[in-house]
Amino acid sequence: MHLTSETFDQNARDALRDPVLHGALRNLADNFVERRRAAIASVDDWEGLREKARVIKEQTLCHLDRYLLQFVENAEKAGVKFHWARDGKEACGIVLNLLKKRGAKHVVKSKSMATEEIHLNAALEAEGIEPVETDLGEWIIQLAGETPSHIVVPAIHKTKAQIADLFVDKVGIEKTDDVDVLTRTARNILRQRFAEAEVGISGVNFGVAETGTIVILENEGNIRLTTGLPKTHIAVMGIEKIIPKFADLDVFLKLLPRSGTGQRLTAYQSIITGVKRNVTDEGPDEIHIVLMDNGRSRMLAHPVTRQSLACIRCGACLNACPVYQQVGGHAYGSVYPGPIGAVITPQLIGISKAKQLPYASSLCGACREVCPVKIDIPELLLHLRAEITDGTAGGAESNPQRKRKFTESLAFRMYGFAWSGPVSYGLGIKAARLMQKLVVRDGRIGKVSGFVAKLLPPLGAWTAWRDAPAVAERSFREQWRDGLGNNSQWSVVSGQ
Ligand code: SF4
Repeated sequence: MHLTSETFDQNARDALRDPVLHGALRNLADNFVERRRAAIASVDDWEGLREKARVIKEQTLCHLDRYLLQFVENAEKAGVKFHWARDGKEACGIVLNLLKKRGAKHVVKSKSMATEEIHLNAALEAEGIEPVETDLGEWIIQLAGETPSHIVVPAIHKTKAQIADLFVDKVGIEKTDDVDVLTRTARNILRQRFAEAEVGISGVNFGVAETGTIVILENEGNIRLTTGLPKTHIAVMGIEKIIPKFADLDVFLKLLPRSGTGQRLTAYQSIITGVKRNVTDEGPDEIHIVLMDNGRSRMLAHPVTRQSLACIRCGACLNACPVYQQVGGHAYGSVYPGPIGAVITPQLIGISKAKQLPYASSLCGACREVCPVKIDIPELLLHLRAEITDGTAGGAESNPQRKRKFTESLAFRMYGFAWSGPVSYGLGIKAARLMQKLVVRDGRIGKVSGFVAKLLPPLGAWTAWRDAPAVAERSFREQWRDGLGNNSQWSVVSGQ
């Protein structure tokens, strides 16, 4: 079943009841969190490296127009053809046209979040073109008819037993739990696909403005074959992937693999500058790059949302997130799950279609701590929440939060008044003590609903999921006034 971002709450509840999913997600902590910790210890100044990356990304995004033109100019000199796409539909149309002009029926693809974002596979299949995913995880997902649940490890939600069953069902081999047999089977099938493909489609990790180079990282060698074997290579690239200088790669090639998979370096780094120079050289005859906006200019326009474009898709924030660890990626109903998905998806598809995602976080800050480019994801989440509650993110009818605005602002005004001076504070506390008698049970305030929740929306929202402590029978000030200040223990403390 296809899950949507609009139903995150329900999706998450369903995921929490899935013991098989939890078993699969346990690999996250074992395989990635620990490995990342060990890998970053091998860098002398990890924090300095993160800061360098943040500065490079920030400066590039502030002058993105200039760097994009420089990238295009240098890549064109090396024989690359460029196509600009305003949105996903245009990007799919450009790729389809290129394939049709070449009469391509067989296409191999390497893992690419940009093509997932625009649902390129569905667009190609609708026109009778068979795109074959060649990353093992992506291929498994394609066989299962599912979408990826992780930016780096698309099939993380699947157990070994489920994959073995899938191979029996779709590939027709005897059931085995021998991973070597499963991977050998996949390799044999995919090698055949590489041999017959007319076009290879890839994403891009980095586009270097200074040289017009594209850089693609991987561990399986499938990107080498996708970009090198077919006669035509099409790369789909978000406009934010630009970095200014070749030397900047030194920073990002250290950060990305360590953050994502806990490796010091990915097994393959394909560094491609233009088409082959001589007919006898290896490589494609033509390279096309589809530069895609698809909502990125909108993100670029605001200083807070701009940081979303610094993401290098390492997946570390997913691995660190306590919400993702429990519910997995499909619950987010988007190709971008986890903390970064919770901020990118509403900006890509419109906040009215993903209103629950900015709330899919405890704001613990674990994502910010691990992000190699220091994106302040909690700040972005709060920014999006503010847009929702301010009603600037959609129409009044479509935004129930907006209808609450008057009572909510009244409650906060009363709260502000109560805290503005000692007399109003004392009166406010006394009033709260009186009113809470309606809702306090065993010294705690449990779920508040009905009239009281309407009168005090923040209390209703808070207690929908957790208890609130009751206002104490006697405040600290009252206890102090009644002689606590004369207690010898407190006298010592206050004398320090
Ligand atoms: S937000 Fe940061 S940690 Fe998350 S995927 Fe992007 S770069 Fe990695």
